[in-house]
Amino acid sequence: MHLCRENSQKHPVTKTRIAVTGGKGGTGKSMLSTALAVELAKRHSVLLADVDVDCPDDHLILSIEREKIKDVEQDLPVIDREKCIKCGKCADACRENAIIFSKETGPRFIEDQCTGCTACMIACPVDAIGRKKRISGRIYRGKGNGVELLSAEIEPGQKEGSPIVNSAKETLSGMKNKWEIEIMDTAAGTHCTVISAVRDCSAAFVVGEATPLGAHDLELILELLSVLGVPAYIVMNKAGTGDDSLIEDIAKKRGLEIVARIPYSREIAEAYSQGRPVEHPEIEKIAEIARKMIK
Ligand code: SF4
Ligand code: SF4
Repeated sequence: MHLCRENSQKHPVTKTRIAVTGGKGGTGKSMLSTALAVELAKRHSVLLADVDVDCPDDHLILSIEREKIKDVEQDLPVIDREKCIKCGKCADACRENAIIFSKETGPRFIEDQCTGCTACMIACPVDAIGRKKRISGRIYRGKGNGVELLSAEIEPGQKEGSPIVNSAKETLSGMKNKWEIEIMDTAAGTHCTVISAVRDCSAAFVVGEATPLGAHDLELILELLSVLGVPAYIVMNKAGTGDDSLIEDIAKKRGLEIVARIPYSREIAEAYSQGRPVEHPEIEKIAEIARKMIK
């Protein structure tokens, strides 16, 4: 499995950092993250980091008014035409196809495609590519329901979420406050933004739905966690509404446990739609497992 450039960087690990993730969008990650954070906060200091950067919504569920604490900036290439010898090496180095090159006109940058990886600057033999800054995301902070929240949001139109997640983690590392447990609410999928969020976690609760697509995506995220060496605990959401054996078979094949089965219920749906953290005995079971991880 390929790990992108952003994920070759290291960040300090806090005392106990766990992830709530899932291969597919809409499986209930935010529901579980917020419910788990509130349950744990009854006995512990808890930081919930909403690093689902495309659509962070934990603050809405927890009715937290967010305050912006930081802009995340990205380097964009700026070409010095006087120095450029039109060799094309910058275009060859760009994996995002963000540089169009011709011998006649030289390189042209497509800003919307650029992730700010700086490969073109490194590749240029005559140092003809300088940098300018642009805002690629924002970090917010807030507090409610006994939970401290850090919320990371990508700027509309930006492609690469990993730098925003990494910036959120750096912000956490630089904070004087420390918490007994940090929960990372990740994006869905297995892309670099998710890898950035889970790679230094001591465990991950993986939310899955018992549908063919849900099972397929669950397999992918479990494989990713296995490659990263992050222990996984499966949480079945909307249990009993699909073919539960789809998830049970995956758990059995991988020797993993389904630690909770959250049913589909009117109370849960109402709490979620009204912006209230969900309370349920299955959430308490998950919290008990997380408590045992606190060092
Ligand atoms: S910074 Fe990276 S993505 Fe942007 S143009 Fe250069 S090589 Fe391409
Ligand atoms: S690598 Fe540098 S010199 Fe070569 S085309 Fe790109 S900007 Fe010009």
